[in-house]
Amino acid sequence: MTIADYSVMQGTASDDTSRACANCGATLQDLFVDLGMQPPCQAFVPNSEADATEAFYPLRAYVCRECFLVQAPSTLSPGEIFTQYAYFSSYSDSWLDHARRYTDMAVERFGLNAESFVVELASNDGYLLRNFVDRGIPCLGVEPALNVAAVARERGIPTMTEFFGVEVGRKLAQDGRSADLVIGNNVLAQCPDIHDFVGGIAEILKPDGVLTLEFPHLVRLIEDRQFDTIYHEHFFYFSLLSTRNVLAQHGLRVFDVDTLPTHGGSLRLYACRDTSTAHQLSDRVEALAAEEHAFGIGSLDRYAGFQEQVAALKRSVLRFLIDAKEQGKHVAAYGAPGKGNTLLNFCGIRTDLIDYAVDRAPSKQDHATPGTRIPVFPPERLRDTRPDYVVIMPWNLKDEIAEQHRYISDWGGEFVIFLPDVRVLRDGEWSNV
Ligand SMILES: [Zn+2]
Repeated sequence: MTIADYSVMQGTASDDTSRACANCGATLQDLFVDLGMQPPCQAFVPNSEADATEAFYPLRAYVCRECFLVQAPSTLSPGEIFTQYAYFSSYSDSWLDHARRYTDMAVERFGLNAESFVVELASNDGYLLRNFVDRGIPCLGVEPALNVAAVARERGIPTMTEFFGVEVGRKLAQDGRSADLVIGNNVLAQCPDIHDFVGGIAEILKPDGVLTLEFPHLVRLIEDRQFDTIYHEHFFYFSLLSTRNVLAQHGLRVFDVDTLPTHGGSLRLYACRDTSTAHQLSDRVEALAAEEHAFGIGSLDRYAGFQEQVAALKRSVLRFLIDAKEQGKHVAAYGAPGKGNTLLNFCGIRTDLIDYAVDRAPSKQDHATPGTRIPVFPPERLRDTRPDYVVIMPWNLKDEIAEQHRYISDWGGEFVIFLPDVRVLRDGEWSNV
């Protein structure tokens, strides 16, 4: 660890005067939302360490008044975040389908074959690249989390354990491993040095190569009060406006965009080199830019007031849980995703209000949620204890989870979500309470 890392961790390097936009360098002076002190949202506490203390760090997001990039300046070092990342993508069925459909589309649209080369950045356990491997298309995953990369290699997915950036990109290009397709799904937000990361992509992209980037859309975050998607491991919250600006500085232009339902509403951008004539600009890009402009994504007014919307949501979540408790109801949580931990910590919800959580990931079982210390069990516990309410923490998967666990209605149990507001699933509809 360098001295600079250490001073960031201690909070001494991030006072108001030294806080600079990671994209354009302007001083960040406009707070978007302050979610208080939070532990790293994936730092689940093993039962064997129940008596140990935990470190909490400020969680605040700002909007840059020059380039409108929303960002939560780093208070953690990258090593603290990624080396034992507990999230394995393979545990969500709908996400696996999403990966399969993406592969079909990309292979068809960009004519990929056994002569092509595909690179995925933050390739996790290889859940996406395995589709390319199955089709005989050469590929490489770059994954900084040691334990996750090891799982990918065991599954036969070529994977290197590195933090991606200009240095790694240049080395790959020098080794003749330039890419026809570079995939970055939900990774750009997790790279504190965004210009080093995008610069690395510019190094490995072939002259007519394609970059696809997926990320949750800031417009949806604001509209649906998705404050729980803000956590220390996510440094950035992107719009088309801000992302285009970052890419343009590395000679990359956006030529197409899809809007996706994933993660509560995402964008998939398609980009290529400025110099490539192989990819025509789609009308969809300017249509979305106009939509964002009308929404006010380039105006500070649009960002003001988000704090109060989040505070109002917190009050209604607590009202629901307190009422349930006073009526003698039992409440459990389904899923312990990172976003759930932001919400639990911000709202101050512990075992006084939610008895326990269940999660399919064995890496989270026999652990407690960071900060709030709600114990995590395998999903079978729902049948054993028959809670009255089951709160679905990964609300983006609410319909899939409610369908898989509809047996809770056998004992009169009901599913609940907290975002965009408190809703209960009754007669097939998510109704406000
Ligand atoms: Zn800026």
